[in-house]
Amino acid sequence: MFIESFRVESPNVKYTEDKIESVYEYETTEVVHENRNGKYEWVVKPKTVKYHFNTDTRVPKLGVMLVGWGGNNGSTITAGVIANREGISWATKDKVQQANYFGSLTQASTIRVGSFNGEEMYAPFKSLLPMVNPDDIVLGGWDISDMNLADSMARAKVLDIDLQRQLRPYMESMVPLPGIYDPDFIAANQGSRANNVIKGTKKEQVQKIINDIREFKETNKVDMVVVLWTANTERYSDVVEGLNDTMENLLAAVDRNEAEISPSTLHAMACVLENVPFINGSPQNTFVPGLIELAIKTNSLIGGDDFKSGQTKMKSVLVDFLVGAGIKPTSIVSYNHLGNNDGMNLSAPQTFRSKEISKSNVVDDMVSSNGILYEPGEHPDHVIVIKYVPYVGDSKRAMDEYTSEIFMGGKSTIVLHNTCEDSLLAAPIILDLVLLAELSTRIQLKAHGEEKFHSFHPVATILSYLTKAPLVPPGTPVVNALSKQRAMLENIMRACIGLAPENNMILEYK
Ligand code: NAD
Repeated sequence: MFIESFRVESPNVKYTEDKIESVYEYETTEVVHENRNGKYEWVVKPKTVKYHFNTDTRVPKLGVMLVGWGGNNGSTITAGVIANREGISWATKDKVQQANYFGSLTQASTIRVGSFNGEEMYAPFKSLLPMVNPDDIVLGGWDISDMNLADSMARAKVLDIDLQRQLRPYMESMVPLPGIYDPDFIAANQGSRANNVIKGTKKEQVQKIINDIREFKETNKVDMVVVLWTANTERYSDVVEGLNDTMENLLAAVDRNEAEISPSTLHAMACVLENVPFINGSPQNTFVPGLIELAIKTNSLIGGDDFKSGQTKMKSVLVDFLVGAGIKPTSIVSYNHLGNNDGMNLSAPQTFRSKEISKSNVVDDMVSSNGILYEPGEHPDHVIVIKYVPYVGDSKRAMDEYTSEIFMGGKSTIVLHNTCEDSLLAAPIILDLVLLAELSTRIQLKAHGEEKFHSFHPVATILSYLTKAPLVPPGTPVVNALSKQRAMLENIMRACIGLAPENNMILEYK
């Protein structure tokens, strides 16, 4: 059964005018390697830590500025938000279609809240904590192409024509701000698009981005801005001692106008300096060590990398299932072909390499979790191929072959084929990323014994469900398995309202 909303009644939870306060018993384990009577053994000790959570329930008016606003993702998410806000429906060859937010974890998925008369009760994921309604987001941003958003939507060839026709009047006047263009970082084939670029030194470019954010905030009367990179994939920047390895070196390198500082790092730096959350939806290493240090020192949220939209999302489900079932994946081969501008940009070896890296590490945590199947350091063969085929446009083809070793030396091969508009997968992920980033800035916590409440670590692991190569604070384990990432997010939100983690034991019926 489905309910729209609920309220928690518990001695551990207090709803005040502008806060939800919860006291939460975090049950975890400690693993130690102990010498017992001259023999080392592994000992696991359950422990309970009391946490206090305070969630500010005042939902801000949110502005979202996209870098690469005029791209396929940028124009698709803009169109989607307007269509939902205006309640637009349109005729397709099949039916009259209503705008929706399908594919968004926060807007279109549910959580189990308990049972009622023997029936499982579900509520919207977004009903866990007060969140920004995506219909209320004000969108803006930058692009190195000055094409207005209505024409960008037409160029993208993603949405049905009857919908485009209705959206055009809303989007014609939306024109991206000039972007930071550096031909050294993206494919040469993007040059003809770059007619809307910020001039000046790197330091001046950072200042221009800061001014743009301030002006956007002022003009649109928004309380808060989140910036998200959905611009072209850049090549990796070299991480060099004395250049971008520390905060001081990075700031000094920008002052010296050093060539190796990428446009995405400049954008991220501007946001961090302005204390505006910055999320990277592309695979490149925007977050060089100096930038991460700057974000930590200024306690400014950063998150990424690379939207986990299709093939990789499936991989982080399928390999988790196989390894969890005691089956040993030995070869994973992933082909893509796509014909949009992202595909054209990725046809250059340097930018493809960024994507290859971000797609490659996704099974590592699952493989290393099973020492029965894999020797230490052993990995399945894992190959990724991306080809540019203009004819298919945004309708990406993903073909995967998983070969595994099963019982008694047998082999099992699974083949998947997916055809789907890439931007229709990415757009709801963009939404979730900005909504959850905003929400996480309203949550404060402290463990028992800690004097003061603090926010989550500025490197936002809470967003990892949505990213292919989750950025984590130095020394933190990376979790790629999709069900674990979802459980982490849901259970943290449950803790904020004093609910136990979803443990699926259903003891009531045993
Ligand atoms: P796109 O090429 O249609 O859009 C990118 C836009 O960025 C273009 O309009 C381009 O002019 C602009 N741009 C390039 N450099 C810029 C800069 N320095 N500053 C401002 N604007 C700049 O690509 P897309 O399909 O929208 O994808 C965007 C990004 O998202 C790509 O890097 C892609 O790899 C990544 N991504 C997409 C998906 C997906 O499913 N669609 C999944 C994961 C990652």
